[in-house]
Amino acid sequence: MRKIFIIGGGAAGMACAVRLARAGESVTVAERGPRLGRKLSATGNGQGNVTNLHQGISHYFTDDPIKAARILERYPAEETISFLQSMGGIFLPDGRGRVYPAGRQASAVTDLFRRELCGHGVAVFLEKRVERLVWTGNRFSVDGTEADAVVLAAGGKAAPEFGTDGTAYPLAQAFGHTVTPLSPALVPLRCEGPIRGLKGIRTDAELTVLRAGKSVFCGRGDVLFTDTGVSGDAVFRASSVAQEGDLLSIDLLPDVSEERLGAVCGNAREDELLCVVPNGLGRVLARLAAGDPAALCRLIKRFPLKVTGTLGFSRAQVTRGGIPLAETDECLQSNFRRGLFFAGEILNVDGECGGYNLQWAFASAAAAAEGVLSC
Ligand SMILES: Cc1cc2nc3c(=O)[nH]c(=O)nc-3n(C[C@H](O)[C@H](O)[C@H](O)COP(=O)(O)OP(=O)(O)OC[C@H]3O[C@@H](n4cnc5c(N)ncnc54)[C@H](O)[C@@H]3O)c2cc1C
Repeated sequence: MRKIFIIGGGAAGMACAVRLARAGESVTVAERGPRLGRKLSATGNGQGNVTNLHQGISHYFTDDPIKAARILERYPAEETISFLQSMGGIFLPDGRGRVYPAGRQASAVTDLFRRELCGHGVAVFLEKRVERLVWTGNRFSVDGTEADAVVLAAGGKAAPEFGTDGTAYPLAQAFGHTVTPLSPALVPLRCEGPIRGLKGIRTDAELTVLRAGKSVFCGRGDVLFTDTGVSGDAVFRASSVAQEGDLLSIDLLPDVSEERLGAVCGNAREDELLCVVPNGLGRVLARLAAGDPAALCRLIKRFPLKVTGTLGFSRAQVTRGGIPLAETDECLQSNFRRGLFFAGEILNVDGECGGYNLQWAFASAAAAAEGVLSC
């Protein structure tokens, strides 16, 4: 029986391990952290947005869109759902195609994986950080343990609290792989502007990024005010585009015209604005407008912030960049060493907010498992 070693017990590593163990392979998973799937358990605000029904390569950033698209077409969102449901549970889409476990608990998805891995006798080593991966002439040596094939699924550089700080890339570089420039993606923006008193307020808004007066991004979704700027899914999408010095113009009431709003603003008191926006937000806006209805209207339709940066890898959800997809084959096998495969965020593929990154983790894990089984 061949021995397959998986480095990283996150979404991609666990999914790959399940597929290989089901096919009868002897599988070992080494996970640097104290538990499997710690990041998976934190996804989707703890609710686990595992995929998105509205797929398409336009939702992804990569050096090799043709190969990424082929993998995502071979293992689409529907396949991810049936794979997850084959372990138990029910997964349902919301109105925007975002798929969650019916119980809306991300940690329960991790529990499904743990149960399945245990049921198939997968050897899991926790608090085991792999530091040395070498080819000995006819096999791999993973910190001294022999393996016939290795899947490197150790994640990227974002959210280091979950064990991903970028220190796994050298394991691939030792085989001649390169790493593209890395940057934080899906990340809160640091901003200057009238945000005092707004921390914690979340609202549905339309956000425009302006550069030299021209719109370079416009998107609608949640905007969450923080103590240093803004976060939320609309902001995460904007973070792919926004640069230091850009202006954000936030329409806090996108379904109401300025004309209709004008009448309401005329009646607002200086210390409150009821039933228009969330109360806490209304109070701050009314105070800023100081009794001027036109200013209040402007603040609601074009709330101004200046981008001063992002919160960096420590607060990013994903890494932009990684090992080029072009350095792998259709099953994500290394072009430089047969038997070495990649899966998940360690590769140069990242997606928009809304389940696209876990979809890549699961689809790439399936492709790598397919490759291991056929090599
Ligand atoms: C807060 C948060 C919320 C998110 N929400 C969503 C969401 O709702 N939907 C979505 O699609 N995506 C979401 N994402 C992104 C998504 O979680 C990741 O893209 C996905 O988990 C990547 O899977 P992965 O298995 O490649 O990497 P990871 O899940 O990061 O797993 C990699 C694992 O490898 C381990 N490791 C690293 N180096 C070593 C080593 N040398 N030896 C052994 N183990 C090692 C790490 O400890 C880690 O457990 C979110 C991310 C964050 C941070």
